[in-house]
Amino acid sequence: MIFFFGTRSTQIAAQQAQASCAHCQQDAVWLFMYQHYFHIFWIPVFPLWKSTVSSCGHCKQTLTKKAFLPELQEDYFKIKQQAKTPWWTFFLLIAFVILVVVSMILAKFS
Ligand SMILES: [Zn+2]
Repeated sequence: MIFFFGTRSTQIAAQQAQASCAHCQQDAVWLFMYQHYFHIFWIPVFPLWKSTVSSCGHCKQTLTKKAFLPELQEDYFKIKQQAKTPWWTFFLLIAFVILVVVSMILAKFS
């Protein structure tokens, strides 16, 4: 049987940064936060880590969190506070718990 599993990601927050671009000095920097999750057959099982990138709308420079300048760190903490893990990244775990509970209830009444 072919078994598809692995990690995927989804964007959970996007916000324009107060800091200007370190490369072109334009006020066009956006922060994007992604939630990575483990999937089986593309069905989310549980969330893994979050990652953040900055992207300049003018010069297209894209940086990962490690390369953020101190000015961008403040914007990073703001987006980190607003970004929540989506409930559906636990989908298969929730479905499994519901299945176990329902089968226990049904077993009690049979
Ligand atoms: Zn730029």
